[in-house]
Amino acid sequence: MLLIRNANIVGRGMSDILIGDDGKYLEIKPEIRAEGIENCEVIDARGMLAAPTFVNTHMHFDKAYTALQGRESTVETLEDSIHIMHDFKRHYTVEEVKARAERAIRECVMFGTTKLRTNVDIDNMANLVGLEGVLAAKEATKDICDLQVIAFPQEGIYANEGTEKLMWEAMEMGCDIAGGMPAAEWLPELARKHVDLVFEIAEKYNVPIDMHIDQSKDMFDRSLEYTAWLTLQKGWGPRVTGGHCTSITYQNQSHAIKVMKLIKEAGMNICTNTQVLAIMGIDAEPRTRGVTRIREMVEMGINVATAQDTICDGFHLYGTGDPLDYGLVGAYTAQYNTPGTAKTIFDMLTTNSMRIFDPDAKYGIEVGNDADLNILDADNIQEALRTRASRPYILRHGKVIASFERKAALL
Ligand SMILES: [Zn+2]
Repeated sequence: MLLIRNANIVGRGMSDILIGDDGKYLEIKPEIRAEGIENCEVIDARGMLAAPTFVNTHMHFDKAYTALQGRESTVETLEDSIHIMHDFKRHYTVEEVKARAERAIRECVMFGTTKLRTNVDIDNMANLVGLEGVLAAKEATKDICDLQVIAFPQEGIYANEGTEKLMWEAMEMGCDIAGGMPAAEWLPELARKHVDLVFEIAEKYNVPIDMHIDQSKDMFDRSLEYTAWLTLQKGWGPRVTGGHCTSITYQNQSHAIKVMKLIKEAGMNICTNTQVLAIMGIDAEPRTRGVTRIREMVEMGINVATAQDTICDGFHLYGTGDPLDYGLVGAYTAQYNTPGTAKTIFDMLTTNSMRIFDPDAKYGIEVGNDADLNILDADNIQEALRTRASRPYILRHGKVIASFERKAALL
């Protein structure tokens, strides 16, 4: 048994938490006495915040750390970023992809994330080598996190010869999610055909869909509404997620509102990945933040989450995997600047992301649920975000598996 005393549970307040030997919450109430409980280990949380572990549903572990020696580029557009990765992908080996992916997974866990979803490029440059490497990293880290793998046609399906066949092979190799990138196609008709194929693959393998949708500042990229329409028709709801969804920001207000109403009606999720898009500037001045319509979507009741996306690769020189880092950038790009909206951001990193990861999962600090828990050294959520607080105890299935300490000293 493990007793955590004096924890300030987010949304609930001060409480003691008893965790059974099966790794599930046994009792949560203002005071639980350790005396009389056999073999009871005690942690004193000293009033620190307690929250469920983070869920990060949009990663690219196959590409992580490819820019450790610097990002070989002088241009900073999305198209350029995709191009930078081509050379890396042609030289992938299973071992080096596994090593980079495993390192990135472990770092995400060290910041208190125990549920992760990653895209893996499937195309005629990476072939299935990146996937093999990431699947090996998944196997090597299965004791510290749950990882879902998306078959992701970064270069398009019809714009990249051979990818359609590779997508089916990737699913046979064990991908958990059907991915897509319709904006990579040359024509609107092909983008629709691309979305149709992703639904066909998802139906055949009975897996969720998580696509990069309209990841551009081109107002004519309009796969989002088509995807939402198919989601509604098929009744797939939260099993479908749109990543980035940027171009809706550049569409006129009446069209954007119509599309957001459709997304809400369909019940699909949006995962805005603000950190990467905010830094990829392709505008003339005044530069925009390049993110989806976060505030309007949240206000309309659409499930909006956010995730890290990439760590130090052709797209993004930075990125740590710490949800409090990319959550803070989310607060800046959404211009969320109140305690209430700090909670909105925190929900995006936890419950809203979990709705993407598994809409049916029992998640949160409740009796009977898996004790996947972070103790954060902060008095409240905005302080946790502001200081990217230390996390002295990170638990998965009732066991302390990691801790993260932020240290600074004046000497
Ligand atoms: Zn992405």
